[in-house]
Amino acid sequence: MDKKKNKETLREGRKMKLNIGGHEYTIQERTLKASDSTKELYGSHLVKDNMIFINKDIAQSRRRETLIHEVLHAVFYNRGIEHDEPLIETLSNGLHQLGIGDYLWKKARKKS
Ligand SMILES: [Zn+2]
Repeated sequence: MDKKKNKETLREGRKMKLNIGGHEYTIQERTLKASDSTKELYGSHLVKDNMIFINKDIAQSRRRETLIHEVLHAVFYNRGIEHDEPLIETLSNGLHQLGIGDYLWKKARKKS
């Protein structure tokens, strides 16, 4: 393993698992950079690969809300339902306030 690759590995956080709509997703905390340097990227997902990435450099409460956010994207994509960011942000913030972020995080960690 070369040094560069080793550094990249060290920057990545733990991997977790979550079943979303009958598909096993890998959830990984890692350093994420937005293509627009004036913005922060909290999370992203790769639908075809069943992957969700969470920015490991943000506060824990935001990581948990971001997990809900990316899970909701996956739920909508899995059903082929069109959706937009304000809808996802409203739902993820509302569910986070109800403690769903903590619940999902613990569930994902158990399966890692
Ligand atoms: Zn989004």
